[in-house]
Amino acid sequence: MSIAIYPGSFDPVTLGHLDIIERAANISEELIVAVLMNSSKSPLFSVEERVNMLREVTKHIDNVKIMSFSGLLVNFARDVNANIIVRGLRAITDFEYELQMAQTNHILNDTIDTVFLTSNLDYSYLSSSTVKEVASFGGDVSKFVPEYVIDKIYQKYNR
Ligand code: ADP
Repeated sequence: MSIAIYPGSFDPVTLGHLDIIERAANISEELIVAVLMNSSKSPLFSVEERVNMLREVTKHIDNVKIMSFSGLLVNFARDVNANIIVRGLRAITDFEYELQMAQTNHILNDTIDTVFLTSNLDYSYLSSSTVKEVASFGGDVSKFVPEYVIDKIYQKYNR
C-alpha cells in the first residue's frame, strides 16, 4: 500500500497545486495533502480555511485526504504511515531547495522517499504569492485558482 503525502502551505491552493494533486493521486493508492501550520509565516488564510478550500476543490478525487500538520514532515509522514513525499518542481530555481529538503528528509527517515512531479507548462509560472499580489490590486485571478477559491481571495482584500 503506497501512501503519499503532498505537503505545502497552499495559501491558497492554485491550479498548479491541483494539477499536481490529480497526477499524484493517479500514481498512489492514497494521497494525503498536508497543510503546514507554520507560525513563523503570516498566511492570508487560516489553516482551517486552507483545509476547507482543498477539500472542496478535490472532492472529485476519491483517494485524496486533506489534513494539517505542524512540526517535522518526516514525523507526520511516519504517523500516517506514508512512505512517499510528493513535491512539484516548477523551474530550476525550485530545484536547489527541494533537493536539500529531500536529502535532509531521507537522512532523518530513510524509509521515506521524495518524488518530484514537474509542473504542467500551463502553470509553471504560478505561485500562491503571485496570486495574492494580483488579487490585492483587484486583478483577475480566474486563470490561476479553482473557481471556488476566487471570491474567497477577493473577500480577504475587500475587493
Ligand atoms: P511552499 O512549500 O513554498 O509553501 P507551496 O505550498 O506553494 O510551497 O507549494 C507546495 C508544493 O507545490 C511545492 O512542492 C511547490 O513546488 C509545488 N507547487 C507550487 N506551485 C506549483 C505550480 N504552479 N506547479 C507545480 N507545482 C507547484
